[in-house]
Amino acid sequence: MNNSYWPDQRLGAVSLTFDDGDRTHLERAIPLLEAHGLRGTFYHCPRDEDYRERYAPWLPAHERGHEIGNHSLNHTCSRNFSDTPGASGLETMTLEEIEADIVEAERRLREMFPRGSRSFCYPCYMTHVGEGLNRQSYVPVVARHFVAGCAAGEYGFANHALNADLSCLARQACERMTGPELVGFSERAARQGRWMIYAFHSIECGRLGTAMYEFQELIEHLGQNKDRIWTAPVAEVAEYLLKVRAELEP
Ligand SMILES: [Zn+2]
Repeated sequence: MNNSYWPDQRLGAVSLTFDDGDRTHLERAIPLLEAHGLRGTFYHCPRDEDYRERYAPWLPAHERGHEIGNHSLNHTCSRNFSDTPGASGLETMTLEEIEADIVEAERRLREMFPRGSRSFCYPCYMTHVGEGLNRQSYVPVVARHFVAGCAAGEYGFANHALNADLSCLARQACERMTGPELVGFSERAARQGRWMIYAFHSIECGRLGTAMYEFQELIEHLGQNKDRIWTAPVAEVAEYLLKVRAELEP
């Protein structure tokens, strides 16, 4: 089921995304990606007042073409994660409050990493504020400010070049996966002509971790198959698809 949506007739696309600024991203992921000529997307929450100092080590990676993405300011998720009665969370927020949070994160990230456009990543894959009758999607807020937003998407499916909502993209959690499983997702994207977005946290055997040994198998595979599978940061693929879609419009 080859199609010609991807650059240079490649079969499918892949984006490698990394959340929450784990130290293993700078220490392990970026050197390995660069050894294979690949670039990734690194999602950050610049909530600390010393964000300028904290992000100084990331500036060279930004300069070398990795995307530094927006993961909101405060990483607010569902209050159901908390055991405290009446805890605050997305259910107690309004659209105006989530927008203010995201815009302040964007102001800080733009100051530090001015090059190029940036995608957003929904913390905990959650796209709502409010609850019950008052539950609302904040996808339109993300659509106003970003070329793309990574959520959980449609269960079990990677993104279709023309049909995926760029503001609510499917992204696959990859903790504890094996190398063959990770490679399999890229090959399935190639077979289906789709765009697979991998979500990584730490590259080690910790919470939500992916072992370096398994991660390395995926990166070597993507490095060896650049002519078949296009690996690029999320914002870059989204901008490319916007052009493809515009050209196909009647
Ligand atoms: Zn996160």
